[in-house]
Amino acid sequence: MKCYISQMDNSVPVISRADARVAGHTHFFTGVPCRNGHLAARFVSNGSCIKCAALRFKEFLESKPPDYARNQMRYYRANHPAYRLYERTQIFAHTNKIEFTIDSADICIPEKCECCGGFFAKTFKKYQATIFVARIDERIGFTRSNIAIICRQCKKIKTGATVAQIEAVLKWMKSRL
Ligand SMILES: [Zn+2]
Ligand SMILES: [Zn+2]
Repeated sequence: MKCYISQMDNSVPVISRADARVAGHTHFFTGVPCRNGHLAARFVSNGSCIKCAALRFKEFLESKPPDYARNQMRYYRANHPAYRLYERTQIFAHTNKIEFTIDSADICIPEKCECCGGFFAKTFKKYQATIFVARIDERIGFTRSNIAIICRQCKKIKTGATVAQIEAVLKWMKSRL
């Protein structure tokens, strides 16, 4: 669950840790500066101020080799094909200015393409090449109810075509092949 408090600081309404927890928020705000003088929200989970946590994380990264963060991300992507697919789709939506409201948890790679029933390859490299998040109705964006995980070939056939056009091509193919 995304928390409304996490983004803001001074203008955040004061809410106690207990109330925030009951409301399902991940953050709370006391209105009192932390021991390092930050007037910022705190995590419900451990009570830490978000600014202190950010500084601690920065120090942690600085204590690591320079490409540590990048390698961690690379490792994560390699082991989470669904996340990689999510990112790739997000970039596609962004460059093409298409609405994108799904989040990484909405993408779950099935065993096979829901269009043609073809099995997806198991290795990450093949996932890259064959799996796509397609929009069911291309007039609207990538929303939770409008996405389907299908193979490259099915996506190629479907993209930009209407049902009538695909039917016409099918009829033509059958008559000529
Ligand atoms: Zn602090
Ligand atoms: Zn397919």
